[in-house]
Amino acid sequence: MAHRGSGMNLDARVQSLHDQGVHTVLAQFVDIHGVAKGKWVPLGRLRDWVEVGAGFAGPSIWGTGLPRHGPRSEYHGRVQPESLQALPFMPGFAHAVCDGYAGGEPLSTCSRQLLKTQRARLDERGWTLSVGIEPEFFLLSRSPQGGWQPADSLDRLEKPSYDLKSLNRQAAFLGAFRQALAALGFDWEQIDHEDACGQFEVNYRHDEALAAADRYVLFKMVAHTLAEREGLVFSCMPKPYPDMPGSGLHFHISLADADGRAVFSDPADPARLSADGQAFVAGLLDHGDALSALCAPTVNSYRRLALARSRSGTTWAPVWKAHGENNRTCLVRTLPGRIEWRLPDPSCNVYAAMAATLAAGLDGMDRGLNAGPGCVDDLYERAAAGGQPMPPRLPRDLAAALDALEGDRALRAQLGPDFCEQFLAIKWREWDAYAGSVSDWELERYAAAF
Ligand code: GLU
Ligand code: MG
Repeated sequence: MAHRGSGMNLDARVQSLHDQGVHTVLAQFVDIHGVAKGKWVPLGRLRDWVEVGAGFAGPSIWGTGLPRHGPRSEYHGRVQPESLQALPFMPGFAHAVCDGYAGGEPLSTCSRQLLKTQRARLDERGWTLSVGIEPEFFLLSRSPQGGWQPADSLDRLEKPSYDLKSLNRQAAFLGAFRQALAALGFDWEQIDHEDACGQFEVNYRHDEALAAADRYVLFKMVAHTLAEREGLVFSCMPKPYPDMPGSGLHFHISLADADGRAVFSDPADPARLSADGQAFVAGLLDHGDALSALCAPTVNSYRRLALARSRSGTTWAPVWKAHGENNRTCLVRTLPGRIEWRLPDPSCNVYAAMAATLAAGLDGMDRGLNAGPGCVDDLYERAAAGGQPMPPRLPRDLAAALDALEGDRALRAQLGPDFCEQFLAIKWREWDAYAGSVSDWELERYAAAF
């Protein structure tokens, strides 16, 4: 996994992988959707993959913005040698994370480069960002009629959180997954059944931000591969079922200064947020609408970020732009020394979502914003009771989030015009395709109604 400054001798690296039986490097990058792409290349030519990069036709990859001809038509995925590690479930293969380059320069539409740029702003302050990512996901399968269904028809409790029977029935996949993650250096902490039928969560230890993002992409790739071997689909769709909770991808965020002090902790009362922590949270809330476009980037994401009834009693998904101490009904849950950012869902590009989140938090600090007092209510209850003012809501659909990103000049300036242009164009096309569809709900409701 990528760690800062972990320089190493390339020839020694090749030799050591060769000694482990590795002959092929799975050189992987992500497209603008955060989906893993790449190719298999021979280990023996590692120096080429590191110094020049593995070559790809640029316009064949979502969101590169590269032309069809000329020197910049080639996307070069430069292997980050410190990320190389043998894949335990694919004998002979080692995985490597790549950075996007074109024409010999870092590619401005490469989301990993975006995160590195934001991270460099922390270097100036001597700070390190740690992120703990909490992946929730569904295990699905295709029905004989071609539809989607929970993979396990016995997994049907009304309140399925922590259901051991359903967890144990997935032991073939989850057991192999756990084993692979452990072999890949994931310090796993827990695996449980979540609050929807067919929904699970796997937790592992936090990491430095870029390493955490790299790790999550690897996590997904391993999950997809191993789930398919068991005839399952590992689904990152945020909300497959309207009457059950959706999947979040919460980020636990903390900053440490050069002496290792928690920047978000108030020195006078470490259980409380420092002024810097308050300002970071205020930045997240201030840019919350635009951040939604990057952290919750699909049409389906907004079915999760809604005040929906669920069979289990709640959805735990954020709806209002508020923060509160250990308050899971808020967009930002604050904890001693860290914050939980509950907006992201697993359809996001983790690099872009993290880069944008960091940019928004730093903007809050640079402007000295104050998030105000934390919310002490259960916001779902407050909304149900009615009659009381609610905090401002998150965007209700992808179009509103995209509008907000278009209107948020400060955030767009941090992410850069090239990335934003590609992202917005692709996401507006996705919205237009959705807007051009007619759902079963509409037909049922309107066909004979008037
Ligand atoms: N599934 C919830 C979400 O969509 C989160 C549940 C939890 O807090 O673990 O954000
Ligand atoms: Mg959870």
